[in-house]
Amino acid sequence: IQRLEESVVNRIAAGEVIQRPVSAVKELVENSLDADSSSISVVVKDGGLKLIQVSDDGHGIRLEDLPILCERHTTSKLTKYEDLFSLSSMGFRGEALASMTYVAHVTVTTITKGQIHGYRVSYKDGVMEHEPKACAAVKGTQIMVENLFYNMIARRKTLQNSADDYGKIVDLLSRMAIHHNEVSFSCRKHGAVKADVHSVSRLDSIRSIYGVSVAKNLMKVEVSSADSSGCTFDMEGFISSSNYVAKKTILVLFINDRLVECSALKRAIEIVYAATLPKASKPFVYMSISLPREHVDINIHPTKKEVSILNQEIMIEMIQSEVELKLRNANDTRTFKTPKVPVHKMVRTDAADPAGRLHAFLSAVRSSIRQRRNPKETADLSSVQELINGVDHPGLLETVRNCTYVGMADDVFALVQHKTHLYLANVVNLSKELMYQQTLRRFAHFNAIQLSDPAPLSELILLALKEEDKIAEMNAELLKEKAEMLEEYFSVYMDSNGNLSRLPVILDQYTPDMDRVPEFLLCLGNDVEWDDEKACFQGVSAAIGNFYAMHPPLLPNPSGDGIRFYSKMLDQDLLSDAENAWAQREWSIQHVLFPSMRLFLKPPASMASNGTFVKVASLEKLYKIFERC
Ligand code: ADP
Ligand code: MG
Repeated sequence: IQRLEESVVNRIAAGEVIQRPVSAVKELVENSLDADSSSISVVVKDGGLKLIQVSDDGHGIRLEDLPILCERHTTSKLTKYEDLFSLSSMGFRGEALASMTYVAHVTVTTITKGQIHGYRVSYKDGVMEHEPKACAAVKGTQIMVENLFYNMIARRKTLQNSADDYGKIVDLLSRMAIHHNEVSFSCRKHGAVKADVHSVSRLDSIRSIYGVSVAKNLMKVEVSSADSSGCTFDMEGFISSSNYVAKKTILVLFINDRLVECSALKRAIEIVYAATLPKASKPFVYMSISLPREHVDINIHPTKKEVSILNQEIMIEMIQSEVELKLRNANDTRTFKTPKVPVHKMVRTDAADPAGRLHAFLSAVRSSIRQRRNPKETADLSSVQELINGVDHPGLLETVRNCTYVGMADDVFALVQHKTHLYLANVVNLSKELMYQQTLRRFAHFNAIQLSDPAPLSELILLALKEEDKIAEMNAELLKEKAEMLEEYFSVYMDSNGNLSRLPVILDQYTPDMDRVPEFLLCLGNDVEWDDEKACFQGVSAAIGNFYAMHPPLLPNPSGDGIRFYSKMLDQDLLSDAENAWAQREWSIQHVLFPSMRLFLKPPASMASNGTFVKVASLEKLYKIFERC
């Protein structure tokens, strides 16, 4: 028996961590994510064997850390073993960079905040090849891995023969892009102008990566469990509907933000699809599962590709039955088409049914018709600029940017937390303002929501007016006159026959409550000052803001007192419509309104005093009260 030389040990170990080019890309990208990057771009040459270059805009690496950066077991993410159970970073072993230097040439260029210049240094076998050299650098870190496996002839040969390594890298980054919605990813071949992965919003990335046919056939799924027996998790994701046909299952799975594989879950879902759908189609599934950190062991696989989960079987069963339920429900309604009946027959005029059934008639179909316009043309409309640059309230802005959504307190107020304070936030006011501001920002550059059946303006307005034919006619005529402007600037499209057929996308993934179309049109007709440019844009934006605001649905809330209304009516369809509308709204509040609000809303000063934000109590005080109980 002989003791192996350390360099041999290291090279063998390195070969395990970095099995193929894609494993190096995964480690590098995870490091970039750990460094709080908001943009990560990858360039690959020769399937990654010649070059992998990952550039990020993260916090960078300090000069004094560079000498040990690529030594084995050096990390900034873990100090004691127990930290593993509260870890939120992707990395923790401090092995990835070291491994790369044993099987490739690694060059790091990095700059930290506040520095005038960056440093560049190359590594071999874990150590620097020279002192770091000062150089020009843009924010963040760029790591170049060249000639991967140059010293592992057999590995290099097998890889050279397989053509799909670039494909694997694109696939990896696509998955990352879908999950890490807040980070923009790009990936291209060296020398190529066009990127093969280029991400924007989650649905957009799914659309651009997996195609329109996937994206338009997705359904949202969610399961939560807080079981005392120890099965606690939240899952949210998208699953393909029965309209989607594919030969291969795609499961994009993140557990606690970590891209992992789970063959048991994959099989469980495939079984449901096979059993539920007539066509033998395989699903597309994106799921993000969050679990208490202490229920997941991430340390069972050298590349952290598989994880072990406490009570995995129970969790999979719960997800399975939710997916099944979703599929069955969707399958039942799938053949439903909007019947061609005149509006007044579709809409119940019964006073006991406040909502009418307009949404059936107006079921909106999202389409991603990108309106191509010359941005210059309109960006210098100074009236719009003036409206956008209204004053905001600095204290509130800070609250809005950093608050967390807790839940709905009642139909109008959401409970939100900021630092140690709890607030009641009026979601109707907030969303109205947000939609208004977004309308101005997207001015003349909207995507469109296509209505499945164009709806006659005058009948719509009539609905809002209840019976006054004359005024409805006049308003419809007025709107027809303004149609060109409304289309050009606001993407509200009315055809020459006086039908409404297209509406603007104000926030991605959000469609307004179609029951409010009549009110919207009436408001356009009555309340807009058409003669003054600025007042006109403001009026239209405010009308849109009010229409798209997340008002409580017109149908009474079935999970409150409203249930009595439905038991009296004995109308199952209406009840399920109502349940859908309320659930949809709550989802939108949490997943569309609050995230967008944090990004875009500039709360006007008036919001500080008009009851939009009301402080409930400080948490410290609440704790004190609970202690006494
Ligand atoms: P680990 O991620 O497990 O800590 P690595 O070998 O992947 O180990 O990285 C070692 C250390 O190098 C990290 O802990 C981090 O401090 C630093 N690092 C690596 N990549 C980057 C990067 N892109 N930006 C900032 N720091 C980085
Ligand atoms: Mg790492």
